[in-house]
Amino acid sequence: MSVRLLPDYLVNQIAAGEVVENGASVVKETVENALDAGSDQIIVDVVDGGRTMINIVDNGSGMSREDLAKCIERHATSKLPDDDLMNINFMGFRGEALPSIASVSEMSIDTCNGADSNGWHLDCEKGEIRPSDWQSGTRIRVKNLFAKTPARLKFLKTDRAENMAVLDVIKRLALARTDVGFVLNNKWRFPKNQPLMERIVAVMGEDVRGAMHAVGAESASTGGMKLTGYISDPTLRRASSVDQFLFVNGRPVKDKVLVGALRAAYMDVMHAREFPLCALYLTLPASAVDVNVSPTKTEVHFLEPNHVRAFIIKSLREVLARTMVANAPVAGEEKIYFHGPIISRANVPTNQSPRAVFQPRPVGGLFAGNKNPDFAGTALGAPAHTPAVDTNVDDIFENRPLGWVIGQIANKYILATNGESLVVIDQHAAHERITYEKMRKHEIKSQPLLTPIVVQMRAEDVAAILSIADEMRASGLVLDAFGEDAIAIFEKPADWDLNWASVLHDIADEVRAYGHSAQLGERLHLKLANHACHHSVRAGQKLDMNQMDALLRDIERTEHGGECNHGRPVYKFIPISEMDTWFER
Ligand code: ADP
Ligand code: MG
Repeated sequence: MSVRLLPDYLVNQIAAGEVVENGASVVKETVENALDAGSDQIIVDVVDGGRTMINIVDNGSGMSREDLAKCIERHATSKLPDDDLMNINFMGFRGEALPSIASVSEMSIDTCNGADSNGWHLDCEKGEIRPSDWQSGTRIRVKNLFAKTPARLKFLKTDRAENMAVLDVIKRLALARTDVGFVLNNKWRFPKNQPLMERIVAVMGEDVRGAMHAVGAESASTGGMKLTGYISDPTLRRASSVDQFLFVNGRPVKDKVLVGALRAAYMDVMHAREFPLCALYLTLPASAVDVNVSPTKTEVHFLEPNHVRAFIIKSLREVLARTMVANAPVAGEEKIYFHGPIISRANVPTNQSPRAVFQPRPVGGLFAGNKNPDFAGTALGAPAHTPAVDTNVDDIFENRPLGWVIGQIANKYILATNGESLVVIDQHAAHERITYEKMRKHEIKSQPLLTPIVVQMRAEDVAAILSIADEMRASGLVLDAFGEDAIAIFEKPADWDLNWASVLHDIADEVRAYGHSAQLGERLHLKLANHACHHSVRAGQKLDMNQMDALLRDIERTEHGGECNHGRPVYKFIPISEMDTWFER
């Protein structure tokens, strides 16, 4: 076989393999072009997830007749006037998008630059340009995507999934450019010049209002970096990364360094399978980052990734630390609730000699040899009450496998001893387990409300919630429709003061996403339990001795008490005998 130069249409189809993956990538490329043309109003319509038709109208600069003719040539671009690949101020610059899209669809362009006396229409199929009455800006119309390349057509997902991908593209660009107005399918509207926080609410949903914290940090390293935007309070989280929006020098990216840094910043306050929300904007000198590493430009290459990573983690941790302090409960106004009677050291009669209680155990207990029986308690600032009763050390720990509380460390772990071991309890995991088991066994007591709580919802969400009203009742929630687009809650689990709007929206999403499968009840409990947990005991909360004791007793009574519902351990025993080996006893 001899070497031959490939014909243009084949080269374009090959390039399209990289640039045009689906309708969403067509939308991404054409909307980016509209932004590069200086538009401040962009209207996108997508039919059948982009398979049948994609229509993008902008009010940007438009094109002259010559530019219109050139724009579908390969590597034709107006965006690299001075050949400097390191200094790129446009979203696109490779000059591949339009020829690639044209090669796998039926594309036409209407445009008018205001200087010519009329507009122009380009039929990319025929390669013909004719005058038109198009008045200003540009319209790109893409029909029958991949109809010419049936093999690619097969890789498109369901229309629903493709629509979601389009929406995701628009959301990312809408957060990149709050000064620009976007309309998608006449349904999603982002008005131009929207304040960032308002746009974040429009993109992520009403539940984020009041739950996002501003970020503003600067660093001199890497030639000067700036990080701005908003991140979610640790109590607000999603089950996937849908609401993580990251930007580098104004460009939406999905970069591993940034995602990793975000995760690391939340490590102590969120489980690995939960995702914080963010709209984060990193700015750094163009020379410190290469945006030209992938054809779709969603990945970037940092010259000094470790500096970037460290800067982001540090900046976000500082914000999170401030929110922890702000949210810490003040005395008399605890945000924590506990089920069941509170059994604490304080409730226990103290008429017995403390010395008898804390006798050294034969194995050499924690307090062996200590003359002061209150040593453990007082040393850690605990009340100097002495546990019960019948003088025998074994009785004290009977039915209390997790033992007595010594104190709390790092506002995160409870330390206790059962005489034989030091017990370390993860307070958040413990509480999660307890709540979940109560939900599962319908042990949640419901409490009628004097005034029902009304939650506004879209009609389809109302329908979703009503369809599982029975299961909700089993979980302590009694509710009904309140007009067409609201739900009224008449009874709720006692002591649960959750953000009910966010709970119901979350559950409606779940029902609409998964329907009525066999595990609906189970998943519902898990969701409610998660909401309940996030509002109560979490890592980072200071607990008093009574609260810690009640938590231990509760976990002892709970089935599967040793594991939280994410499968993580709840407590760990460190045997005294193991400690002895540390000290070579
Ligand atoms: P690139 O964006 O990398 O330059 P494209 O193939 O996406 O390559 O576009 C080619 C050229 O067509 C652009 O450089 C621009 O000059 C012109 N163009 C494309 N879309 C528009 C638009 N909506 N308004 C004005 N000009 C456009
Ligand atoms: Mg482009």
